[in-house]
Amino acid sequence: MSITLDQVTKQYQGNPVVNDVSLAVSEGEFFVLLGPSGSGKSTLLRAIAGLTEVDHGRVTLFGRDVTQVSAREREVGFVFQNYALFRHMTVGENIEFALRVRRDKPAERVRRRKELLELIGLGGMDDRLPAQLSGGQQQRVAVARALAHKPKVLLLDEPFGALDAKIREELRRTIRAVQRELCITTILVTHDQEEAFALGDRLGIMNFGRLLETGRPNDLYTRPATRFVATFLGAANLLLRREARPGSAPDNPRRDQEVVAMLRPEEAELAPDRDALVTTFLGYGHVEELQFTGALERLRIRMGTDGGARNTDPTLSAMPPVWIDVTRTQPEQRSFPLAQGQLVAVGTRRIHVLPTPLSSFTVCAESSENAVRLIENPWLVDLAARMQTRLSAQVEPGLSSAEVPPGDTPAGVAVVAAGPGCPARVRRLLARGVRPVLCLPEEATAPVRVVVHFAGQVARRATLAMTASLLRHVPAEAVFLGILPSNSPERTRTAGVRQL
Ligand code: ADP
Ligand code: MG
Repeated sequence: MSITLDQVTKQYQGNPVVNDVSLAVSEGEFFVLLGPSGSGKSTLLRAIAGLTEVDHGRVTLFGRDVTQVSAREREVGFVFQNYALFRHMTVGENIEFALRVRRDKPAERVRRRKELLELIGLGGMDDRLPAQLSGGQQQRVAVARALAHKPKVLLLDEPFGALDAKIREELRRTIRAVQRELCITTILVTHDQEEAFALGDRLGIMNFGRLLETGRPNDLYTRPATRFVATFLGAANLLLRREARPGSAPDNPRRDQEVVAMLRPEEAELAPDRDALVTTFLGYGHVEELQFTGALERLRIRMGTDGGARNTDPTLSAMPPVWIDVTRTQPEQRSFPLAQGQLVAVGTRRIHVLPTPLSSFTVCAESSENAVRLIENPWLVDLAARMQTRLSAQVEPGLSSAEVPPGDTPAGVAVVAAGPGCPARVRRLLARGVRPVLCLPEEATAPVRVVVHFAGQVARRATLAMTASLLRHVPAEAVFLGILPSNSPERTRTAGVRQL
């Protein structure tokens, strides 16, 4: 491995800006770190370069632990965000700067400079001043400068900055070609999804300082594991789908389970009628918006407005608002021209189920006042919004009483009020097969620290999956709490969440 990060954490004022990031980049790989602004990309890149100290974890470059090694000794080339060349130095002097600092011989410096200028396609421009170059050319010089001392690793932080689209694309090509030519391990940081797809052999998606997923662009696009990656890597319709789950034990009766499914706009099919679809029927809807964008047509379909005899697939329901975004190619438009307001049947070529244990939230309470209080909890409202999921309520007077026969069982996460009566409510819901149950104190606010505990190994997997899912949506720190009997042979083991 070229670059190995092991549980790297960096805090500013007690907030983890980079949170427990582990990553391995192989030799010659072009790795792209993608994430929204403020997600910790630059901080992580600076930690690799040695420009920022880490609070926890280890940085290894080519098998050497460099966590405590200074930036200059890490053999890393770096191009900063909003990078500026030395304005008073010529292109040649800029490129030679690092070599001069290292006291390389003049002849060697000139040879290297010429070689690099050829590589970036600016041969012969040695004597120009930065002001005499275009923005794109300046950035190329910046790349050449970062490569001058033959670093083993190249780190690029949003090197395309404020350049316009056409120049960005040119520069993208140059950087990709240079990287291939030199076969240098590279990490590029960007917030631009298209750029990430165009450049990366592999991508890593960051949010809230966490590295959520890594993988090849196409794999992440078609089979993301998280809502965030699903929606950040392009337009995605998130749907709730009911699946029958077989009951395994008397305390876990058969019930429907709800899963989160992703439908990419280009994987939806539109037809005049259900019978005309060649794909799996999703439902009927009306064309609410229609936008021509050149190569593609973008449509927004309002689902389920027809009702009546034309029933919607009962196993799939769109999350509110009940719209499906669809894109169609020119041939698709020609074969079935559409107008605003038109009724259409929607089919799905490909639906991907996210492996998240958290689907929608159903507030369960004995009275409507209690239900309202829970459903209006600001943190819950915020969480549901971040998860782009449904938040609904169910009033059941006999929620905690053993005598009342079970009513309609929530298929997603059941939310009950903490406090008096909570254990009875939870027991009843669990007995009806409801999983998971969230107990929410009335005054609950966004957690800063999350304590993870499971009583036995049986609960380990489910607990960890649940915690991981929840933590993707809150910028909180996780602490694992294990309780071991005093006579346990494992007593001395310091089992932390990191080991988990
Ligand atoms: P990105 O590059 O993904 O936009 P950054 O790594 O620059 O994100 O920043 C992540 C978070 O850390 C931001 O909220 C930013 O305000 C904060 N941050 C970065 N550097 C510092 C610093 N030196 N002191 C305090 N906070 C910082
Ligand atoms: Mg940044």
